[in-house]
Amino acid sequence: MKTKEVKIGNVVIGGGRPILIQSMTNTDTKDVRGTVAQIRALEEAGCEIIRCAVPDAESAAALKKIKDSISIPLVADIHFDAQAAIAAIENGADKIRINPGNIGGKEKIAAVVNAAKAAHIPIRVGANAGSLSRDILQKHDGPTAGALIESVLENIRTLERMKFDDIVVSIKSSNVSVCVEAYREIAKLVDYPLHLGVTEAGTYHMAVIKSAIAMGALILDGIGDTLRVSVTGDPVQEVYAARDILKSCGARKSGVEIISCPTCGRCTIDIEKIADSIERFTQNIKMPLKIAVMGCAVNGPGEAREADIGIAGGRGEGLLFAHGEIIKKVDEFDILPELRRMILELAKERNEE
Ligand code: SF4
Repeated sequence: MKTKEVKIGNVVIGGGRPILIQSMTNTDTKDVRGTVAQIRALEEAGCEIIRCAVPDAESAAALKKIKDSISIPLVADIHFDAQAAIAAIENGADKIRINPGNIGGKEKIAAVVNAAKAAHIPIRVGANAGSLSRDILQKHDGPTAGALIESVLENIRTLERMKFDDIVVSIKSSNVSVCVEAYREIAKLVDYPLHLGVTEAGTYHMAVIKSAIAMGALILDGIGDTLRVSVTGDPVQEVYAARDILKSCGARKSGVEIISCPTCGRCTIDIEKIADSIERFTQNIKMPLKIAVMGCAVNGPGEAREADIGIAGGRGEGLLFAHGEIIKKVDEFDILPELRRMILELAKERNEE
């Protein structure tokens, strides 16, 4: 769905542009060196917008040095503290994320909104199932999609009444069906860009499953302008998961897609080890490549006809193939080095095109 365009530092989201990957640091924002190192690792993995928690004035001051050392837009995440929000804007935040309900009353919200207006930066407002007001929870009998919608519309209208419309919206729940219902509904009601996310999604395995179901459904509906996969753990994993969700939905074509078979009684070589190793080897390749790792020559090349290159296992050997055609046979122990060589060669060729 085509949303309004919003500029965040050196990127523009919305207006039917590609969905951008966002993540959030889990370092202490005051630790400039540690935070910059984490942002660079995230950037290397494919993160396109980064958010840092700004709980106090000292963290807001650190944003200036952080911003000078990174090249992706920097978003400040603020709760409860209007002064920290204003300081974050003064220190170069490209966008701020606030909850108008907890910033301290109308005057303080107006001060933050005026600072954002003067700096020409957007504000993300959102509803989160974990921080809905008691009134809304009572009215809707819990954190339902309706409760989230009412809360986020309240936040949006607060900013609009202050003649501010440089807005990004999020509406998050840890419940997948509530999350999907709420995003589908809000997409019909406003034309602001939507930041997708399942909140408090859990540790890696569950976070990826919940996020893939919710965001996959929304992205396939044409909803979403940025996304974050929330993972309890290393945020670099969030970025890889977000990349894979976008790739699986056909929303972005960057990065390597591994097509590997589940193996069966015909397989006589260690396909799992080869697939894992190739996945790690290609993790930071940004250009689109399809690599097939198949257990046998009976169905291998045929099943992976769409792959750029691939391997099909045989007894103590492997058949290397490209675009479904067998190229040569190699000894089992030469499969990995040979595949890596072919991948690098193809990546170089495509880079030069
Ligand atoms: Fe079995 Fe071969 Fe298919 Fe893999 S490619 S699942 S080994 S038949």
